[in-house]
Amino acid sequence: MCNRTMEPTGVIFDLRRYTVHDGPGIRTTVFFKGCPLRCRWCHNPESMNPAIETLLTFNHRRCPAPSEAENRETIGREVSVDEVLREIEKDTIFYDQSGGGATFSGGEPLMQADFLLALLSACAEREIHRALDTCGYASWATFEKILPRVNLILYDLKLMDDAEHLRYTGVSNTPILNNLEKLAETGVPIFLRIPLIPGVTDTEKNLEQIAGFIRPLKNIQRVDPLPYNLLSEDKNQRFGFPNRLEHLEVQSAEELSRVEDRFVSMGYNVKIGG
Ligand code: SF4
Repeated sequence: MCNRTMEPTGVIFDLRRYTVHDGPGIRTTVFFKGCPLRCRWCHNPESMNPAIETLLTFNHRRCPAPSEAENRETIGREVSVDEVLREIEKDTIFYDQSGGGATFSGGEPLMQADFLLALLSACAEREIHRALDTCGYASWATFEKILPRVNLILYDLKLMDDAEHLRYTGVSNTPILNNLEKLAETGVPIFLRIPLIPGVTDTEKNLEQIAGFIRPLKNIQRVDPLPYNLLSEDKNQRFGFPNRLEHLEVQSAEELSRVEDRFVSMGYNVKIGG
């Protein structure tokens, strides 16, 4: 997508200032629209489709029937690099004071690699710290393109069993694991993010396999287990998407503490919730 000056434009579905769970310090997080995965637990299901779309919204507490739709909501907007940059630059003073910066998240930012690169470059020129939050499902050539402009990678690792990964996310985990191994060799700092989905990703077996996989990898500076929350169920209902997971219970403090201990005992800096 290009505007008249050939500067790439992109489609985002949100931009949030003062975020504190998307990397170090106080940050501005830009949420790109479009994702190659279809995680059943996705807490931003409206981000999956790369196109701008109008969705019916429902008052899910009272009337889930489509005929009782309350209104429509447009998800996504096309934005220029300058537009996004203007928002990011508003909080430079907070980034400087807190060690924060900009985080590019989604959806999957690597699906809009040219736009992402233009944003990263613009932030780099202004010496704004840049974090990329990625599901890892992209070509290595795409990673190579953006890596010189990235200060930190927030890398999601979900399921080690490939058949389970396919079942719950719609894609194989092979490129995700391969890319993580390659990234660990580049020297870029990595925060590993593990969404803890009850009975799916938070099992003893999966966490043990993740621990075994990352043990030899360099540059994993932090492990962030992300507790399950019910936001995805609310969003599915609000937009009328089918709920693709049974109702799940959030993890207890004891369960989270066990996950934390596992990675701390391996010598990792661990931050529950990122
Ligand atoms: S990778 Fe993230 S944004 Fe994409 S479907 Fe999965 S949870 Fe949603």
